[in-house]
Amino acid sequence: MTADELKSYEAFLAERRSQIMARVADAARISGRDASSVCVLAVSKTVGPEEVSCAWGAGYRVFGENRPQELRRKAQAMAADPRMADARLDMIGNLQTNKINQVIGTAHLVHSVSSLHLAEAISKRAVAREATVRILLEVNVSGEASKSGFAPEEARAALPQILQLEGLSLQGVMTMAPAHDPAAARVTFSGLRELRDLMRSDSGLPLDVLSCGMSDDFGIAVEEGSTLVRLGRVVFDPAYQLGV
Ligand SMILES: *Cc1c(COP(=O)(O)O)cnc(C)c1O
Repeated sequence: MTADELKSYEAFLAERRSQIMARVADAARISGRDASSVCVLAVSKTVGPEEVSCAWGAGYRVFGENRPQELRRKAQAMAADPRMADARLDMIGNLQTNKINQVIGTAHLVHSVSSLHLAEAISKRAVAREATVRILLEVNVSGEASKSGFAPEEARAALPQILQLEGLSLQGVMTMAPAHDPAAARVTFSGLRELRDLMRSDSGLPLDVLSCGMSDDFGIAVEEGSTLVRLGRVVFDPAYQLGV
């Protein structure tokens, strides 16, 4: 993009961001909270470093990537961009055990810990590097066969073992709702919150992070208690229609 195009793209991102933040604030109010209790993460997987820099200019401070290699590429670009020195980058996508080393020390939070096996593998590599990795357990609340993650009861049952693993810091839970079905999305999000509440009383840990809500359903997610929405198309795509 030319300098002028980048400038007008940044203006679009800022305008869109104010619409998103207004929707988040309305939904937070419905759930009896303040908008500041919700982290709006910009999913940058479909855009390049220039667009990410525009998003920073438009006010986003937290970004997410779903592939380890792209996460590293974006992290390097952010480190080289003086205005993005303290940008936060999270790993939100499916993580294979042989890619764990690429995200340790780069991702601020790994949202997608979808099995005990993966948690154990991250722990092992974190210990070897004397690192602590912040994680969320990915839970398949809706039970769709296409989705990865712990079944809700499985997550609860695995909690004692996960809490014993060194080098991990469990912050909460994450889920993805069924697409194009607002009623099912709402049940999925409230189910995630209820599961978190059980895990909180089981463990005595705060487990404050509820990572749920994407472009099509983030308002519903925040109404149901989401503390972190992961937004891709609605942030970056001018053709995306922001729903009500
Ligand atoms: C791509 C992606 C998102 C964002 O999806 P949109 O519908 O574009 O907002 C959120 N979470 C994960 C895990 C993703 O891969």
